[in-house]
Amino acid sequence: MLENTKALVRRVAQKMDIPKATVEAVLTHDAHHSFTIVHEGKEYAAHRAQHSNKLGPYKGGIRFHPKVTGEEAAALALLMTLKNAAVGLPLGGGKGGVAIDPRGIDQAALEQIARKYVRGLHKHIGPETDIPAPDVNTNAQTMDWMADEYMQQTNHPFAQASFTGKSINNGGSQGREAATGRGGAFALDEYLKTTGSTTGLASRAKFRASFDPKRPLTVAVQGFGNVGSFFAHTVRTTFPEWRVVAASDSAATVQFSSQKEIDKAIKWKQSGKQFKDMSLESIASNDAIFSEECDVLVLAALDNAITEENMSVVQAPIILELANGPVSETAEAYLALHGHTIIPDIIANAGGVIVSYLEWQQNLKKQQWSEALVNKKLEHYIRSAMRGVCIEAEQAKMTLKEAAVARALQQLLR
Ligand code: NAD
Repeated sequence: MLENTKALVRRVAQKMDIPKATVEAVLTHDAHHSFTIVHEGKEYAAHRAQHSNKLGPYKGGIRFHPKVTGEEAAALALLMTLKNAAVGLPLGGGKGGVAIDPRGIDQAALEQIARKYVRGLHKHIGPETDIPAPDVNTNAQTMDWMADEYMQQTNHPFAQASFTGKSINNGGSQGREAATGRGGAFALDEYLKTTGSTTGLASRAKFRASFDPKRPLTVAVQGFGNVGSFFAHTVRTTFPEWRVVAASDSAATVQFSSQKEIDKAIKWKQSGKQFKDMSLESIASNDAIFSEECDVLVLAALDNAITEENMSVVQAPIILELANGPVSETAEAYLALHGHTIIPDIIANAGGVIVSYLEWQQNLKKQQWSEALVNKKLEHYIRSAMRGVCIEAEQAKMTLKEAAVARALQQLLR
């Protein structure tokens, strides 16, 4: 992943005529902190990669997963630098984690491990230095423990601002849970609006040839967890001219014949149930979602959802990447060649980190903003980033992903 990301950055830099030495300096990590957490006789490797603080404090998640490695943290930290820069946030890139399988570990032990992570790292993180957030298998509770431990270790007057993604009672932000799905819907809307007025991109997209503005825009959603279900919820509440026609989870694809069914599906999945147990007429295998006849395929499950194996079945002219890296490199090239447009993860799923940034701001100002205000600011950030990327792509003859990286490089080299 690290090498792939670096290769993408080098390719874009070459198109921008940026000298090699300058690009290599951008790609170099600032620091990597590795240590061992010992708990009840067991040892767990812990990492925090800090890629760049050129634009502001390092920012990025902490995951608890057996596959966490230093290299993975480094790759994800670089991606966070690019994402934060591309979206225009005054933040750098970091990522970390503990190599542990949290399944079967009780809450008391998880709390101790979270606190030990902070004890090992508190000198290198903090509200002005590095502000971690939740990631795979960590959540608001983990962040509450970590922020509390940071406070105990440092007595920092703004210790609450040392972590984001906390519970509302402990300084978390309104709107954080829905932010990534909601931001994805705004990114899609802005893409449609901007490319509607820029003829070059419009003629490249299959979409323009097939789309009749008098009918609703049809959307299929792969993965209906936090991100996918809040994306669908935003479509229902904010974009009545769009229709979610199908969705999938890890076991099944379902098709919706009415708006009521979509609302039921959102509630069903948000209460932790499976689509296969819902009484719907049309239920197919989970990979049926990829060949769904629709305008937009939203990828909100896992990385590498579309690869060489299934890239040729994709029908949707527009693909919205809400998961991280859901389209493999080979599939990306194939889909671009066949006229599909990919709205890249780096912009499309930035809603989470944008609201994390807003949480940090609230904590530093010792304020609590309304959900309406948070959503307004989220919408502003994501729309202006998406618009900038569309224009850059058009002018520089780049894909949207390349243009997002170009925007990030412009910020990092200012
Ligand atoms: P989640 O665990 O809440 O949901 C993921 C969903 O995907 C689950 O419902 C699962 O059943 C489903 N799924 C798994 N395998 C599938 C398959 N083969 N086909 C269809 N569905 C499948 O996770 P989430 O928070 O919604 O995150 C989704 C993706 O978005 C992840 O890749 C995550 O890294 C990325 N992401 C999330 C955020 C955020 O704020 N939550 C921010 C940026 C990126």
